[in-house]
Parts: sequence; structure tokens; C-alpha cells
Amino acid sequence: MERVKCLILGAGPAGYTAAIYAARAGLSPVLYEGMEPGGQLVTTTVVENYPGFASGVDAAALMDAMRSQAASFGADIRRGAVTSADLSSRPFGITVDGEKRIEADTLIIATGATAKYLGLPSETRFRGMGVSACATCDGFFYRGKDVAVVGGGDTACEEALYLSNICGKVYMIVRRDVFRASKAMQERVLSASNIEILWNCNTEEVLGDENGVTGARLVRTDGKVFDIKIDGFFLAIGHHPNSELFSKWLETDENGYIVTGGKTSKTTVEGVFAAGDVQDPVYRQAVTAAASGCMAARDAEKFLIEHM
Ligand code: NDP
Repeated sequence: MERVKCLILGAGPAGYTAAIYAARAGLSPVLYEGMEPGGQLVTTTVVENYPGFASGVDAAALMDAMRSQAASFGADIRRGAVTSADLSSRPFGITVDGEKRIEADTLIIATGATAKYLGLPSETRFRGMGVSACATCDGFFYRGKDVAVVGGGDTACEEALYLSNICGKVYMIVRRDVFRASKAMQERVLSASNIEILWNCNTEEVLGDENGVTGARLVRTDGKVFDIKIDGFFLAIGHHPNSELFSKWLETDENGYIVTGGKTSKTTVEGVFAAGDVQDPVYRQAVTAAASGCMAARDAEKFLIEHM
């Protein structure tokens, strides 16, 4: 059985940043990349809001750079996904790909979150060609154009408001006749002059051609079917934190996000830290994930000094 001082799970900005800091602190970190090296960021193309890149940066290139930076300091980056975890005592027991067993003195969980999609084949076909689950990432590419946001929660309202400052018209496709969002968000959306709410509507099809999205076919609960013309179709129907393997051991909130204590990355199990979107339902940005990865590595380092 292999024993490691600092095991990091996840290959998004949080995991790689944790690996950079942990490697430089001499913790000899091992990082498992999981199913999606690069994390959610590589579902987009150009990242324009990551500080330090005045002309934007290709998302995959940014993640490659973070990975190389971590490796250059000696982080041991491996392919493989965790299949089970035993956090009942230290060292923690982690199994990778159903066979390899590792004992870890500290564990940094940076397994991210996955955006929910409607599950329509047309939505999959146009993903990255007008279909997006991140307005902050991709909204800018629809400057002056008409777009739609699906959902009626706080995220949908926030995304619609963000897009309303950039786009021509923003439709909100809400499946009931009420929002789920907080009152304050609802009021802001309802008072925006270029946001139109399409109540009681579900998406039947995302429409498009070889250049990408051109519209959406909606069906209202009274049976009326109609099309809207749009260039961008944004999903904001929630995210699913990738915390299932750990929720037996760690406190999670009602949506499955790992709970961290105060301004730290500490979970409810000593020696286990969480970073990035798996513990953040609100900000969910590459830069905030990276920052929390740094915090987790620093917290792990301090823990090892105090306990080992
Ligand atoms: P929510 O679960 O709160 O809302 C999801 C929305 O999507 C709901 O309106 C839901 O409809 C709708 N929806 C779900 N599935 C479908 C579907 N298949 N088709 C159409 N519509 C669908 O998720 P959020 O991401 O908005 O928020 C997650 C958490 O994060 C919440 O606790 C929220 O308050 C918080 N948050 C806070 C922010 C802030 O404070 N600034 C910003 C963003 C999020 P229905 O209501 O009918 O179920």
C-alpha cells in the first residue's frame, strides 16, 4: 500500500493550484485527475476573466499551464478516478479505479461540480456552439445578440442580469409560474427592461444550423408550441457537486456541497480539506477555485506540521 502525505483529488484550477502550493511546501503531493482533466473550464473555449491575460487565454491551454507548473515543482500527477474513500480514521483510505489503494495523511478534495443539462440531443449537438452552462464564461461572445437562460433560481437570475448588460434581449425560460430565486433577485430581473420572462415554458428543442444555435422551440404548459430566435442558449438549472463519495463522512449542505469552516478549507473531518466548486455554490469561478486550492494546501501544510 502506498502512503502519501498529501493526496489531491481533482484536476481543475483548485486541484492544480493546491498541487503547486503543496509541492513548493515540500509535501510531495500526489494528484489524481479524475474523469475530466482540466475540470469544467475546458467545456468553454476562451477565458477572458482570468487575471493576467489581457487578450484572454484558451481554457485548455490555461489548464495545461497550471498542470505543468504543478509538475515542475514535483507534484506527482496521475490519471485515475477515486472509486471509494474511507475517512473514518487517519491515514485516510482511498481507492483509485477500483484497485489501487492509497493511505493519505491529508486529503484535499477538489472534485468540482457538474452543470446540469436538460438532456436534449439538440442541446448536446450545439454544446460549445451556442449552448453553454456559464454566462460569465461565454456571455461576452453574444454581445448585442439575443439569448435565452433556462431556469428560475438565483443562478438563472444572476446569469440573466449579467447577460442583460451585454446582450440585446434576454429571454428567461421558467418552467413554473414562479421563480425559485430570492425576492431581491426576482425584483432585479423583473425591473430589467430587456429581460422577458417566458413563464410555464419548457424547451422542446434547441434549433440551429452548421454555424450554431439559431433558436429554441418551447412548449407552454397549456400546450402552445412556439419558437424564439436566439444565438445563445444558457442553462442555469443547477449544479451537482461531485461529493457523493465523501458525503458519508463529511458534512454537506442540503444540495450536497461540502461544508468548510469559516474562512478556511477545513471540512468536518480533521485533515480533510475541500477546495473549488465542490464546496462553493455561489462564486464558482476559476479564479476563486484557484484561490481556495491555495488555501487548502496551506491548511494541509499547517495540519501536517501540527500533527505529524
Ligand atoms: P436552484 O436549484 O436554486 O434552481 C434551479 C432552477 O432551475 C429552478 O428554477 C428550477 O425550477 C429550474 N430547473 C431545474 N431543473 C429544470 C429542468 N429540467 N427544466 C427547467 N428548469 C429546471 O439552483 P441555482 O443554481 O439557481 O442555485 C443553487 C444554490 O445556490 C441555491 O441555494 C441558490 O440560492 C444559491 N445561489 C446563490 C447566489 C447568491 O446568493 N448570489 C447565486 C447563485 C446561487 P423549479 O423551481 O421549478 O424547481
